[in-house]
Amino acid sequence: MEKEHVKCLIIGSGPAGYTAAIYTSRANIAPVLYEGLQTGGQLTTTTEVENFPGYPQGVTGPVLMDDLRQQALRFGADIRPGLITQADLSQAPYSFTIDENKKITADTVIIATGATAKYLGLEDEKKYAGMGVSACATCDGFFYRKKVVAVVGGGDTACEEAVYLAGLARQVYLVVRKPYLRASKIMQERVLNHPKITVLFEHNAIGLFGDNGVEGMHVVKRKGEPDEERYDVAIDGFFLAIGHQPNSAIFQPWVKTDETGYILTEGSSPRTGVPGVFAAGDVADPHYRQAITAAGSGCKAAIEAERYLSEQGML
Ligand code: NDP
Repeated sequence: MEKEHVKCLIIGSGPAGYTAAIYTSRANIAPVLYEGLQTGGQLTTTTEVENFPGYPQGVTGPVLMDDLRQQALRFGADIRPGLITQADLSQAPYSFTIDENKKITADTVIIATGATAKYLGLEDEKKYAGMGVSACATCDGFFYRKKVVAVVGGGDTACEEAVYLAGLARQVYLVVRKPYLRASKIMQERVLNHPKITVLFEHNAIGLFGDNGVEGMHVVKRKGEPDEERYDVAIDGFFLAIGHQPNSAIFQPWVKTDETGYILTEGSSPRTGVPGVFAAGDVADPHYRQAITAAGSGCKAAIEAERYLSEQGML
């Protein structure tokens, strides 16, 4: 099997990974970045990004990610396709397997593998991807001003997104499969008392329809019960807020995570507790999950990696 040693390995190609690559390459650390399954990360699945500073006219997700990638390439980052399939962080230098056919060892590691939004698994979610289906209200809510949207989920994220969307949209349906909300009391109250939010308890969304993007959803109330009801609700946008899965599984034996799998870092730093191993972006962030916050944490991780190498006399 092919073998290689690098000073800094960056895993993941979202805003955190590419920003870490920009900073570490400018610091002459010669970073190697593996892009993973989805080059450019979650943002490549969104359409317009209007809240990333520096783009007064907005930018599409794929263009933004390509701009970040080009910026990292300009300073000499070695960006490669490939998926890290195994990790061993038990001792430095840390070792990894790429696509089951290459081994790499690294003195410092920046884990920027992101998180994956959960979907219901409906065929229609794929059919209307980017045409009315979204897993990020902060990213896409603006396109639904004065329109009607549905949010699926009953946790804090769903309630926050419903309240956020209610500030823009004409009407918000919150589709909750149980007869109660799982969210914190304060979020429950905000949702239940909001004049523009209607909570559809004991409902499941089972399909979407529309000729030109989403025009409505098929729902079932009290699924499987004798009084089960099926009907359609007219909507323009369908938002999933049923949780995210951080992509941390291969690192979990060595780094601490919360119960969902988000990597726990030391205070507001990207340090994981394993010397020279840092986590940046959504894989370590259950709260903000924004491109700009991911980019910021990628910058912090790069600075930490450089300091670590310098302290170890490895620069
Ligand atoms: P949660 O896991 O808390 O909630 C997920 C919600 O989605 C639940 O209501 C769940 O239903 C529902 N759900 C899951 N799968 C399906 C499905 N297949 N069909 C229909 N509904 C489904 O995830 P969140 O993202 O809301 O929150 C994650 C963590 O982050 C929580 O600890 C939360 O408190 C925290 N958080 C905190 C915030 C804050 O403090 N400001 C903001 C956002 C999140 P069910 O209840 O039936 O399982």
